[in-house]
Amino acid sequence: MLFNDLPLDHRIKKVLTDKKFTDLTPIQAKVIAPALKGNDIIASSKTGSGKTLAFLVPTVQRLLKTKALSKQDPRVLILAPTRELAKQVFFEAKWLTANMPITCQLIVGGENYNDQIKVLRRNPQIIVGTAGRIADHLDNKSFFINGLELLIFDEADRMLDLGFKEQLLLINRFADHRKRQTMMFSATLGRIEIDSLAQSLLKSPTKVVVGSAT
Ligand code: ADP
Ligand code: MG
Repeated sequence: MLFNDLPLDHRIKKVLTDKKFTDLTPIQAKVIAPALKGNDIIASSKTGSGKTLAFLVPTVQRLLKTKALSKQDPRVLILAPTRELAKQVFFEAKWLTANMPITCQLIVGGENYNDQIKVLRRNPQIIVGTAGRIADHLDNKSFFINGLELLIFDEADRMLDLGFKEQLLLINRFADHRKRQTMMFSATLGRIEIDSLAQSLLKSPTKVVVGSAT
């Protein structure tokens, strides 16, 4: 399957073509179409299989094609287990949206808290961050996510292993409304902790597994 065969904005197709990304990876082929329809997703595939674009492509399409639910709140929040992984997702979002009217910010632990408050006041549309720092900011009302349209958990299994369950559930509660779409990615599914987290976060999700479960 080709990116050019998908119902995507021409700007997305151009960025991907310029980068010589023509064919979807198997996980992208299974995730992008239901994600574009607005379905909740739970997906698993091995490292290096292209999960980042599997969620970023439908994210950017939605930002380009639909009106924001809220003027101030971010439209998309992407959570990753570590600063390094959050940074990688952030940079991928930056190149994908380079020529688009889409703002994206990185909010991770270990960086100046008050500077982050200033960044959040500029109302970025996409926030990529680590669960601990994002939960702190929500608790302290640095920003609100009542109008959040997409909540994405990247490497959810690792976030659980690192002890972020409470923070994930708290973030979920701050953005608890009917119109929200949620996607959860994990290296493995079928673990009881993952399944119970998915139960709390997702509504009738499309389940996607590529390759053998480990
Ligand atoms: P994962 O999150 O599954 O570990 P990544 O999203 O980090 O994988 O992708 C791994 C690498 O593959 C990245 O360098 C990414 O840019 C590249 N990549 C992703 N999708 C494609 C594609 N459709 N065609 C070519 N390269 C791709
Ligand atoms: Mg990844």
